[in-house]
Amino acid sequence: MTNADEAAPTVAVVGGGAVGVTTAHDLAARGADVTLYERGGLAAASSGRAAGLLYDAYAEDVDAAVGARSIERFRAFDRSLPGFSFSPCPYVIAVREGDPDADAVPAMVDRMRDHGRDVTLVDPAALGERFPSLRTDDLAVAAVAEGAGWTDPPSYVRALAERAAGEGVAVETDTAVALGPWTDAGREVRVRDAGTDESSGAETRAFDAVVVAAGAHTRSLLADAGVSVPVVSYRVQALVARSDYAGPMVYDATAEAYLRPHPEGLLAGDGTEPVPADPDDYRREADDWFREDAAGVLDERLARVARPDDAGQPDRGERIGHDLDDARAWAGLCTATPDGDPLVGPVDAEEGDATLFVAAGWQGHGFMRAPAVGEVVAEGVLASLAGVALDGPDSPWTGAFDPRRFDGTESFEIVEGMSLSSRTEEE
Ligand SMILES: Cc1cc2nc3c(=O)[nH]c(=O)nc-3n(C[C@H](O)[C@H](O)[C@H](O)COP(=O)(O)OP(=O)(O)OC[C@H]3O[C@@H](n4cnc5c(N)ncnc54)[C@H](O)[C@@H]3O)c2cc1C
Repeated sequence: MTNADEAAPTVAVVGGGAVGVTTAHDLAARGADVTLYERGGLAAASSGRAAGLLYDAYAEDVDAAVGARSIERFRAFDRSLPGFSFSPCPYVIAVREGDPDADAVPAMVDRMRDHGRDVTLVDPAALGERFPSLRTDDLAVAAVAEGAGWTDPPSYVRALAERAAGEGVAVETDTAVALGPWTDAGREVRVRDAGTDESSGAETRAFDAVVVAAGAHTRSLLADAGVSVPVVSYRVQALVARSDYAGPMVYDATAEAYLRPHPEGLLAGDGTEPVPADPDDYRREADDWFREDAAGVLDERLARVARPDDAGQPDRGERIGHDLDDARAWAGLCTATPDGDPLVGPVDAEEGDATLFVAAGWQGHGFMRAPAVGEVVAEGVLASLAGVALDGPDSPWTGAFDPRRFDGTESFEIVEGMSLSSRTEEE
C-alpha cells in the first residue's frame, strides 16, 4: 500500500453528515491523515433534517450491538464534547388493538432482551400509569426501551467536526468532489468546479483510501466511478408542534409515526413517501397530508391534559384537536436498500486491494447509528490498508453490512424503516 508502511495513510471522506464526520474524526484519532469533503455546509443534508431519536431497541444481533455502542458513545460525548448534549428519555413502542403486528411484539422484545437491551413488555394500563401524558386505552401491547434519548442532530455534526479539525482533519466545506480511478498515486478525488457538476480541469488529489458517506448522493457519486450500489433515496417528514409535552418518546407502530419531547414543544414525524426521490430535486417542504396525519396521531396518542373529572381521574378519552397548519415542518431524505440493512465496507475489493469504501443506506436509522458505524469504518479502512483480510477473523468489518452482497442492479420496494413488520421477522 502506498504510504501505510512509513507515513500516516491518507484518507478522503466524502460527506459532512453524521456518518462522514464521525468516520473522519475516528480515522484521525487513529493516526490517519484525513480530508473531509462536504459540498455544502456541515449537516447540509439528511443529518440537518433528522429528528434525533436515539435508541438501542433492535431485535437483530448486529443492529442491537450497533445501537448499544452508539448510545454508549452518545452518552460519553454528552460528558466530553462541547456543544453536544444527549437527553435520556425512554422510548415506547405502542401497537394498537386490531393491529396484527401486536402478536409479534412479545417475541421481538424477548430478542431485544436476549441481546442485552433494557426493553420491557408492558401492559397498556401500566404504561398509562407510568406516563400519564399518553393515551393507552386503545393499545393492544407496548414495550418500553430504557436505553434511549434524543438530541439535536446538527449540533452533533458541528461539534464532532470541530473536534475532528482539532485532531488534524482538513474540513473542506462548500467543496463537491467526484471520484476518479485508482492510479499509481492512489485513489483519485476530483474537486468539482464551484456550482457545477464538472470535475474536468479541477484539482485532483490521490489518497490511499476514499470513504463515500454521501447519503442520498451515494449512488450517483459511486456510479460516476463505475460502481453500482442499490441505495435509493425517499422522502420522510417531521414537524415541531408547540404542545407542552414532557412524556417519553413514542413510536406508534400502527400509525407508523413517532414523537418526542422538543425544546419548543413536541417533535412528530414520519410521513414516509415510499417512492424514489431525486436528491437534487425533491420537495423540501412538508405536505398538507402529513400535517393532517400527524395531528390525528397526536390527538389519538396523547391524553388530554390531565384535568380531573368528577371522579378525580384524568379524562383520557377526549380528543385534544391538534391544529398543525402553522407548525414548523419539513421533509428530508432517507436511503433504502434491498434488505433494509446498510452498505458498510469496501466496494472495489475484487480488483485487489480495497481503496474505495461506502457507508450508506440507513433506512431512517443513520443518525442514531453514526457513532458506532463511523468507528467500524475507521477501523475497517485502516485494517484494509494494513492488509488485514476482509473476510478473516481479524477483520473489523460487519459481514451483515458487506456491500458485496449486492451487485447493484437489484430492483426493490422501499419499506418504511421503523415499521414493526420489517423488524419482527425471525433472524
Ligand atoms: C425528517 C427526518 C427525520 C429523521 N429522523 C431520524 C432519527 O430520528 N434518527 C435517525 O437515526 N435517523 C433519522 N433520520 C435519518 C438520518 O437523517 C440519516 O440516516 C442520517 O442523517 C444519514 O447521515 P449521513 O451522514 O449518511 O448522510 P447525510 O447527512 O445526508 O450526509 C451526506 C453528506 O454528503 C454530502 N455530499 C453529497 N455528495 C457530495 C459530493 N459529491 N461531494 C461532497 N459532499 C457531498 C451532502 O451534502 C451531505 O451533507 C431522519 C431523516 C429525516 C429526513
